[in-house]
Amino acid sequence: MQLCIPHEENMIRLGMSLAKLLKGDEIIYLRGELGAGKTTLVRGILKGLGFKGRVTSPTFTLMNIYDSQPPVYHFDFYRLEGADLTDLGLEDYLGKKGITIIEWPEIGASDLPQDALVINIELADGDYDRERIVHISASGPDHSKLLEELTTHVHTGH
Ligand code: ADP
Ligand code: MG
Repeated sequence: MQLCIPHEENMIRLGMSLAKLLKGDEIIYLRGELGAGKTTLVRGILKGLGFKGRVTSPTFTLMNIYDSQPPVYHFDFYRLEGADLTDLGLEDYLGKKGITIIEWPEIGASDLPQDALVINIELADGDYDRERIVHISASGPDHSKLLEELTTHVHTGH
């Protein structure tokens, strides 16, 4: 699915729509350059889950855990610099109840599960103040079903 997201608040709304469809064991990869809007989308997801606290970028901490219902494990691999994902304990989180969201998955790609929702955010005309083009794809039956539901929701409002 491809969407045009004109403003930050539409990105938040997309995250909120997605949140309503999550069951609690999904893996979401967020691709796109710095400032594309990946963390903004995560803010929308947490808002949609009813989380009231602050949502910050885990660029320096590598990971934030939100005790939303279900919990969210929010990773940012930008500064991973070849560190071993086993050191990070990622596998522990993938096995737990919770939604795993990873910014810059390409940096840890070889060790990551294939089955996931992949959201790619691009700037229109390279302009940070303008709309974003969002491509969403899925691998595996569960994430494909989620994408189908999201597509229906976005196009019909149901
Ligand atoms: P990333 O996590 O990809 O580095 P952030 O979400 O932290 O990016 O930052 C995105 C920035 O772009 C925010 O400051 C946001 O206000 C701004 N922005 C402008 N237009 C949009 C849009 N259409 N969608 C999302 N963010 C936008
Ligand atoms: Mg970010």
